[in-house]
Amino acid sequence: MRLEDTIKQEIQHNGPMDVGAFMARVVAYYYNSRDPFGEGGDFTTAPEISQIFGELLGAWAADCWTQMGRPSKFMLVECGPGRGTLMVDALRATAKIPGFHEAAQIHLIENSESLKARQRDVLQDFDVSWHDGLEGVPDNAPLILLANEFLDALPIRQFQRADGKWKERVIGVDGAGNFHFGLIPTAQPQNIEGDFYETSPACELFVKNTCERLKAQGGAALFIDYGYVEGHGDTLQAVKNHDYVPVLEQVGEADLTAHVDFAALSEGLVTTQGEFLRALGISQRAAMLKQKATESQAKDIDEAVGRLTSTDQMGELFKVMAFSSDDINLAGF
Ligand code: SAH
Repeated sequence: MRLEDTIKQEIQHNGPMDVGAFMARVVAYYYNSRDPFGEGGDFTTAPEISQIFGELLGAWAADCWTQMGRPSKFMLVECGPGRGTLMVDALRATAKIPGFHEAAQIHLIENSESLKARQRDVLQDFDVSWHDGLEGVPDNAPLILLANEFLDALPIRQFQRADGKWKERVIGVDGAGNFHFGLIPTAQPQNIEGDFYETSPACELFVKNTCERLKAQGGAALFIDYGYVEGHGDTLQAVKNHDYVPVLEQVGEADLTAHVDFAALSEGLVTTQGEFLRALGISQRAAMLKQKATESQAKDIDEAVGRLTSTDQMGELFKVMAFSSDDINLAGF
């Protein structure tokens, strides 16, 4: 049965589904049934745009490790590694740093079986473990965690004020068998301005658990994603073939995400992707690569740097949020 029909049947039996439950089902199915990345797919992420992205994140991780006093063992964790490109680039960039690879235990948090197979393939030269969540990652050494476009895939819930009362936005099925949005009664929250808000308990829990790990084990975490630091409305969105599509159409066949509410996740270090990559030396790295490039390759490198950093592309909408234990002074902020 198609995912769409399975969910409809479930709603007909059990009643409307909250946006979070719906999103969790759709996202799990979507990533399990395809490789959505790149031009021929549905969307392109930063590590797929340029090798420099993963290389700079690798250098960032190595800098954290050095500041920690080069521990002989640490967990190099990536959440939602997709095709594994970021990790491959990060490992290549750090291969010549004495002791870093020997100390790194690679742990990937991934729940798509098909993407796990792809990651196994591209990382075959390394010893890698997979986990469904942070719980599975060992807690007996410091950790350095990287997550690009991971939090946006975690479920959100949405609430709307109607006739003076807060309701939760849910998904039901109408008489003709089509999905539609509806509202059901919910607990009345306090101190919410406006008539709409969305929240991601899943994101908040993930970040909270990460911070607790950093406190107990030491280390650093970097989350990169599109999102806002203040004021927003409904950010649930579906993307297919590099274009937005209605959220309740092509269910399971389009990528379903929400913007990340960075203000709810951190009072601390949040910057833009453009600022962050510039601070880590993206221009210098691009110049180095261009020395050995043909004219057309050099043009591609410049274009990729533009896509990653310029304000009208990914440079400003994408934010970078980091956490660390006290012994680390985080680069890029
Ligand atoms: N970081 C990669 C891929 C981003 S797409 C890149 O930048 O190219 C989101 C990734 O998160 C996919 O690998 C997807 O399978 C994974 N993912 C989504 N929800 C997840 C969850 N709840 N638990 C673990 N992995 C998840």
